Amino acid sequence: MIELPEAQTLAAQISQHLSGKTVINSTAAHSPHKFAWYYGDPAEYPAKLNGGRVLSARGLGMFVEIALSTSTLLFNDGVNLRLHPQAGPIPVKHQLLLTFDDGSSLSASVAMYGGVVCWANHELYENSYYATALAKPSPLTEAFDEACFRALLAPDAVRKLPLKAALATEQRIPGLGNGCLQDILWQARLHPRKKLSTLTNEELHQLFLSLKSTFREMAQAGGRSTEKDLFGQPGGYPVNLCAATNGKPCPRCGSPIMKEAYLGGSVYICPVCQKL
Ligand SMILES: [Zn+2]
Repeated sequence: MIELPEAQTLAAQISQHLSGKTVINSTAAHSPHKFAWYYGDPAEYPAKLNGGRVLSARGLGMFVEIALSTSTLLFNDGVNLRLHPQAGPIPVKHQLLLTFDDGSSLSASVAMYGGVVCWANHELYENSYYATALAKPSPLTEAFDEACFRALLAPDAVRKLPLKAALATEQRIPGLGNGCLQDILWQARLHPRKKLSTLTNEELHQLFLSLKSTFREMAQAGGRSTEKDLFGQPGGYPVNLCAATNGKPCPRCGSPIMKEAYLGGSVYICPVCQKL
């Protein structure tokens, strides 16, 4: 799943490799998918996209946004984006395929569920998650400082939550989901079940520092090793706590990493480093 570091990486790769290219052909909703959603009728996507020149791309929280001269494309965290060179093979199944004037193409494939959104320049896209992503500063920027972090977690309703829910749901922290969360909490030596309200001032400070540095390392390395980039290559940040390291020694203390089912997903913890 795309989270902040992958959205940044994909956007940078799209900007580098697709800016200035013009869409000459597009196909939306080619492969039926129960949990792929579109904005408006996907049959109208070619009219919005064909002839559009790629201007730029950016990561917005978990979204990847591509600005074209005619319209805007937005992909959420469940979409796999791949660039295919001229005459290269393209996937059999896809939810959006763009072909550019140099013969290269971009495919968007939804894995479990995902949004492939396109709106023409004269349309307005209204969506609360997108609005949130636009409104909050990215944790990769200076604007996301400790005061900002503490303010996002300050409401009483949030303080009652365990750390996993407080940090990695509702897009409270832009681009933070259950994937990046594991290493951020491990670096801060905090357990995902621990209630936010029980953290000391110092623990909250350490959590902020871990969030900033872990995200920065992940983004600088081109995303996490568990995710793929625009060319299908895994990211360069080796994830410490994930399915692949379950049962392996904690890099800090050597205790076996454990997996727990928690709040509709798996969490990975070091039972020694991360006390409840
Ligand atoms: Zn440990």
